[in-house]
Amino acid sequence: MEDCIFCKIVKGEIPCYKIYENKKAIAFLDINPIAKGHILVLPKNHYENIFEIDEESIKEVALAIKNVAILQREKLGLQGMNIFQANNAIAGQTIFHIHFHLVPRYAGDNINAWPKSNYFEKDIKGLHKLLTK
Ligand code: AMP
Ligand code: ZN
Repeated sequence: MEDCIFCKIVKGEIPCYKIYENKKAIAFLDINPIAKGHILVLPKNHYENIFEIDEESIKEVALAIKNVAILQREKLGLQGMNIFQANNAIAGQTIFHIHFHLVPRYAGDNINAWPKSNYFEKDIKGLHKLLTK
């Protein structure tokens, strides 16, 4: 897609620090990392978000995520890993070409991966019904 920075990276029009690629996915270092070895994994084709991506691409992206995570574990001495992915501006998405953040975790890094919210409704039974009927 024109004017998409990640499409430009895929096409080689903008440089990146590529770590991995397969048929449908690519992984490179985040230019503004929140942890040592923060990597983005994304489909080579342009899809805006999780609702749009096709099945074959998401499968290849999932495989890429697995392989990159193993590489990070081997090379970085991490103690854990968070995988984040934002859909739409309200969720914090700033680049509208779907991508997954692989964020290595280290003791004392102070990253708050699971913030508290003001969601107090706990109608688990009702939600289960809604989602499964
Ligand atoms: P998000 O908020 O989930 O849309 O994240 C976008 C991410 O892309 C941010 O973590 C940026 O640091 C990262 N980013 C933006 N431009 C580049 C670039 N040219 N190369 C690598 N990462 C980038
Ligand atoms: Zn794109």
